[in-house]
Amino acid sequence: LLNQIELAPPDKILGLTETFNNDQNPNKVNLTVGIYKDNFGKVTTFPSISKAQKLIDRELGLNKNLSYLPIKGGKDYAENVKNFLYDESCSSSDTTKNYGKDLLDNNRISFAQTLSGTGALAISAKFLSLFISKKVWIPNFSWANHMNIFNKNGFKSIYNYSYYDLKSGQLTVDKWLSDLRERVGQDKSDEPHCIILHACCHNPTGLDPTKDDWDKIINTINELRMVPVIDMAYQGLESGDLLKDAYVLRKCIDPKYVWDNGLFLCQSFAKNMGLYGERVGSLSIVSPAHSPSTVKLAVDSQLKRIIRSIYSSPPGYGSRVANLVLSDPALKSQWFKDVHGMVNRLQSIRDKLSYNLEWDTVNDEQQHGMFYFTRFSLPVVQELRDKYSIYLTDDGRLSLSGVNDSDIEYVCDTFRKIEQL
Ligand code: PMP
Repeated sequence: LLNQIELAPPDKILGLTETFNNDQNPNKVNLTVGIYKDNFGKVTTFPSISKAQKLIDRELGLNKNLSYLPIKGGKDYAENVKNFLYDESCSSSDTTKNYGKDLLDNNRISFAQTLSGTGALAISAKFLSLFISKKVWIPNFSWANHMNIFNKNGFKSIYNYSYYDLKSGQLTVDKWLSDLRERVGQDKSDEPHCIILHACCHNPTGLDPTKDDWDKIINTINELRMVPVIDMAYQGLESGDLLKDAYVLRKCIDPKYVWDNGLFLCQSFAKNMGLYGERVGSLSIVSPAHSPSTVKLAVDSQLKRIIRSIYSSPPGYGSRVANLVLSDPALKSQWFKDVHGMVNRLQSIRDKLSYNLEWDTVNDEQQHGMFYFTRFSLPVVQELRDKYSIYLTDDGRLSLSGVNDSDIEYVCDTFRKIEQL
């Protein structure tokens, strides 16, 4: 059987870095992966993070503790992350009441430290496909790994909702909702449909629904009894304010919505703490208010079994760093500043690119996050790669901080040349 296995295609994003590394062109530019780099092309470690690392390494000696963490991660990490997500991020001026605090007080959140956002999504997919549903909706442009994760973790039916119109460069919220009403509304089976929602900084388009649109979207998916899977990989990178960016979470936990089959939050500290390779994130499953406490206990126990069967327990070091940042007021306030600084720099690169290229400024102002969505067609992306050694992902997404003072001229000159073809 081994010799009947077909060659899998290279990963749509990480596979490109392998090609890039083998490229001999001295002018090559890698704009594929979502990693925040400084103007010299170095991966940035935020001051808050390096201070926490120093404390851990030198003073507290926590890194000397190489024992296993529990299956669902450390207790302190769980407390601090839950407080950050459900208390701090849920008490904002755009909500009348902090409903997240109620969830904490009423013990409604099953929580696990996960291997970053990808791990949270994979465990969700496994859990959902085992117990709730094998049907999921993903936006028509999305992070390429969403499809892969759900496909490889038990999902039988993966549908696309209309999120974005390539031609106009605008979101298509009405079409999105009519797609759902038509297809989900008419499905008479008992199996609910899951839906992935990008909490902010939609990847790859950088465009997010307005608050009014989100209200409509959440109303509709609730009416259709769908299971929301919130993917919050970029909290803080939209507005520069970590707390403000959790609008979708705040909105979804409003008790006027009853999510009979749970609400799933997959969250990552990869981008907003720069802890990429440390794999630090979390999965929360919020059980409905009316459910007896045995439901949460059962969810907790099954979550543990799934994790135990895959990687047993999460890694320690990165989560200790995150935990310290979240629990030390000075480090935490530094972290908030660090995220703000990163967002300002990303915005200045965006501005430089649109100024140099005279690109459509309306869209430029609307796009947020680590990426610029060029809307280049696949042949253009391929030509950029093959002829000029400028690497974007196939969908034309460009990682902003890959552009720096030493390569911006080459990148802009090439884009201008290619646009005239
Ligand atoms: N969701 C989206 C939309 C992403 O863009 C990413 C990172 N590229 C992730 C989840 C997960 O990232 P990580 O596993 O590094 O936290």
